[in-house]
Amino acid sequence: MGVSRNLVEDEPTSMIYKGQFFPSKKDLKRLVGHFALRHNFKWKVKRSNKTTLHLVCLMDNCTWKLIAVRRDEVTYFQVKSFVNKHTCPLEEIHHRH
Ligand SMILES: [Zn+2]
Repeated sequence: MGVSRNLVEDEPTSMIYKGQFFPSKKDLKRLVGHFALRHNFKWKVKRSNKTTLHLVCLMDNCTWKLIAVRRDEVTYFQVKSFVNKHTCPLEEIHHRH
């Protein structure tokens, strides 16, 4: 009893803000995954390299974006720009069956 809890109702860490630090790109993507599920949208990687991770909404004309950068002397990524505003119709993506 209570040993395996698979359902997480609310992840306190699933919020994103400018200036936020992430140990790695993987951690950042995982959090964005949680975030996108909660807010019913899909995202994609626009650009990813050693020092930059640029994520955008799956819809091409949407304004939602997240840019994280890593400086040479550190190992972590930091959110440089986060526009948490959708101009795409979210409801149509997440339609009910
Ligand atoms: Zn969008």
